[in-house]
Amino acid sequence: MRAKLFTFGLKEDKGTPEYVCPSCNRIGLLFDPAENNYKAQDQLCRICGFRISDKHDNAVKNWNDAWTECGREILFDKPYEERCEYYRKTFYSFYGKYFYVASDMEIENKEFDDKLFSQYGFLHKKDDTKKILVRCDDGNFWEFSYETNTIIYLDDLKKYFAVGEDHERFYLFAGDGLTHGDSSATDAYRGGYIGFVPDMFPLYYPLFYPDDRECILMDQDKKKYYFKIECSVA
Ligand SMILES: [Zn+2]
Repeated sequence: MRAKLFTFGLKEDKGTPEYVCPSCNRIGLLFDPAENNYKAQDQLCRICGFRISDKHDNAVKNWNDAWTECGREILFDKPYEERCEYYRKTFYSFYGKYFYVASDMEIENKEFDDKLFSQYGFLHKKDDTKKILVRCDDGNFWEFSYETNTIIYLDDLKKYFAVGEDHERFYLFAGDGLTHGDSSATDAYRGGYIGFVPDMFPLYYPLFYPDDRECILMDQDKKKYYFKIECSVA
């Protein structure tokens, strides 16, 4: 089950649409899409969900194709929860025309093409001069050889993470079992890397290498885990 995303504009259902949507060619817009103002540009079509502000190449056509693949159902005929779910499905189908998006099966099995990371600029690196250290406040300790774009498991399959590196910045992508007690872990849009955050990794954090600061995560038993990258060469 994928996380909820992109609910912006889906709740508001006052008013009667008067304008034709450029994507589905049906009357689904409240405001004239030709007008260059916030209301006109930020609206989405109540029939197909196309966002007027979307400026991807061929967005108008690709959204229509995605909506067709999802069954051409009328978005705002659905109750709110279903509407969000249907919108999300259409969005992923649309986004998948531009980017590699992990399938439900890949997410389930935690198996994926390296493109999932590399398309966002994260390099696949192995580096023997670095290691990834994790300690838990219950006394457990793990040491992993440094490799990015790769799922690394602690002692059970729910507690996993991956390290990402781009332009000398380091990130910790945290799996399901390691993001408890984080107030920012809500259903709202959590930004960034569609196709793997938040579907595979609910949240991500900065890692501070070569700085010694640790990134702290918590499991459901409120045990804390401290992550850092360390230089392994004395
Ligand atoms: Zn439309």
